[in-house]
Amino acid sequence: MSLMPNLNYGNLKDSYLFFGISKKVEAYRAAHPDKPIYRLGIGDVSRPLCDCAIRAMHEAVEDQAKAGTFHGYTPECGLPEFRQAVAGYYARRGIRLDAEEIFVSSGASDELGDILDLFDASSAALVTQPAYPAYVDASIIAGRKVNFLNAGPENDFLPLPGADTAAELIYLCSPNNPTGAVYSLEQLQTWVDWANERGAVILFDAAYEAFVEGELPHSIFETKGAESCAIEICSFSKTAGFTGTRLGYTVIPKALEREGMNLNAMWVRNRTTKTNGISYILQKGGIAVFTDEGLRQIQENIQFYKQNARVIMEALDGAGVRYWGGKNAPYVWMACPKGMKSWDFFDLLLNEVQVVGTPGEGFGASGEGFFRLSSFGSAEDTKIAADRIRSLVLGI
Ligand code: PLP
Repeated sequence: MSLMPNLNYGNLKDSYLFFGISKKVEAYRAAHPDKPIYRLGIGDVSRPLCDCAIRAMHEAVEDQAKAGTFHGYTPECGLPEFRQAVAGYYARRGIRLDAEEIFVSSGASDELGDILDLFDASSAALVTQPAYPAYVDASIIAGRKVNFLNAGPENDFLPLPGADTAAELIYLCSPNNPTGAVYSLEQLQTWVDWANERGAVILFDAAYEAFVEGELPHSIFETKGAESCAIEICSFSKTAGFTGTRLGYTVIPKALEREGMNLNAMWVRNRTTKTNGISYILQKGGIAVFTDEGLRQIQENIQFYKQNARVIMEALDGAGVRYWGGKNAPYVWMACPKGMKSWDFFDLLLNEVQVVGTPGEGFGASGEGFFRLSSFGSAEDTKIAADRIRSLVLGI
């Protein structure tokens, strides 16, 4: 018999979402080459990296050019000064972390899959839906059963565990992609208390925490007791525009143990086995992001995107459309007008007003009837697209 492949790949559903969108857009473009298309579908940033990060990375390249400052392999779990810089970022919000509880990564997507190495595949995952597709797919590849907890208008897209909710591993994402919804501290505390009572572990995806305003929590570690039930996965992608540069970090508290095994120590073992560290140059860029000046500079980009989100929200207000998100996230999640299905609304927007968004159904069955608009585009395109959506919806 030949080598047996991982048969779990056969259980993955075809990912039609972005492929389907680009096929439809290409077909429209071919048929109407004279019509410009306005994209509110992208989940990627469009603004360049901040000056602080660029300068630090240039300097780090120069370090690599001289024998006296050259760096070979960096420590697998992160440069001590990188881990310290992240701990300092948390300390600004009163969260005390030991630098050894922070692990450098090359981004949240990598970690969302890799972190499953810490848990036996027999433990079921719970995913709140609609959801970022990686949670489900990474769990299936690892051979894990996935259960869903539906988010919807009835819970403002912020579902909480009920008495009958069963799960050993829970994915939470706040601010959420695609809904833009953000859990309050009390709601996160409910999840943390629930997880601690059951011995479950929460994988908290905080990729969009830098968009949070006011008193809402940026981190699950703002709750009481999260150190015994949560892992936080973070990224410089949306915080600082590192989508093409690749850098992130993961927090695994030293207090997190299951069956007498320490998950922080296990992750040290995992990283030292499966990685040889992350680029010295990139970590230097990340350290610069978390300086006072770096934080000021990344806020300029975040505020630019937030202004786009305001333009989208004003247009939806003008059209009398119900929506969520937008204020503490780069995504506005709107109800499709007249109860339309999300792909039908996609087709209508593209064909009638040349605007591209993301059909909610692509984020899971409970996303049907909703539509994601992204604020990551240019100000000009966003304004035109928002005006066109308003006029179209008012005319339906
Ligand atoms: N988590 C969420 C919720 C995301 O939306 C994304 C990217 O869009 C990621 C994780 C992946 O981030 P990274 O670029 O760090 O891999």
